[in-house]
Amino acid sequence: MQDAVRGWRRAGLRVGLVPTMGALHEGHLRLVDKVRGSCDVVVMSIYVNPAQFGPGEDFSRYPRPFSKDRALAEERGVDALFHPRQLYEADDSTRVVESELSRDRCGADRPGHFEGVTTVVAKLFHIVSPDVAVFGQKDAQQCDVIERMVRDLQFPVKIVRAPIVRDGRGVALSSRNAYLSDDEYERAVEFAAVLREGAQRPLSVAAATTRRRLEGLAGVEVDYVTLAGRTLCAAVRIGRTRLIDNRKMVRRASR
Ligand code: AMP
Repeated sequence: MQDAVRGWRRAGLRVGLVPTMGALHEGHLRLVDKVRGSCDVVVMSIYVNPAQFGPGEDFSRYPRPFSKDRALAEERGVDALFHPRQLYEADDSTRVVESELSRDRCGADRPGHFEGVTTVVAKLFHIVSPDVAVFGQKDAQQCDVIERMVRDLQFPVKIVRAPIVRDGRGVALSSRNAYLSDDEYERAVEFAAVLREGAQRPLSVAAATTRRRLEGLAGVEVDYVTLAGRTLCAAVRIGRTRLIDNRKMVRRASR
């Protein structure tokens, strides 16, 4: 991968990176579209990063349909797929830690998760040395943490955020949606609808009202509902599946 990047750089080409864990859906593929406009070469990484999964999470059962992913990526015009078998030494002892923005929300529920994310993204940036890297607003806190890491560690890369892609019923696309039974998918539709309505409420009551409404849904366990700036963020568990989503607040704060 590094040899290929050196060649592209010598030829004066701009490199864009789309980091993913595979099990590609339209949300991932829009990231490709987004980065292609400003780059000559689009690299997609597919790597299920063990360091960002906690004990008892879904690392081993995470879907890995590589042949299908490769076909989808090719079809969408990805120029190079980076699909490493392993990015960690058996005795590695170095991590990249962001210690402020990664504390609340998913950081509180998933200890060590963002440390795994920043570490793998730093590795990918070193290997691919992209001019531009794109991340989805679906993982809003991940975007915040990566932007901070890039700023604090002077990574020479421009971070672009892409909007959330949803299905026809409003559910944010996610590789983990594949875990949902039909009945659980209906709960996911309700989760998305409650969050959308919550974002239309006054800022001062949005999080509390949304939490109450989500807690009232059968089959939905709330991990968190909170405002991050003007974004209403939530994580819930539906059966064994943890889903996250967020919506920009619609109204201005009342005076
Ligand atoms: P993942 O494979 O889940 O690690 O996601 C790889 C990238 O795709 C991350 O930057 C995600 O934020 C982004 N992504 C995942 N789902 C969506 C979606 N529904 N809309 C936009 N971006 C997404």
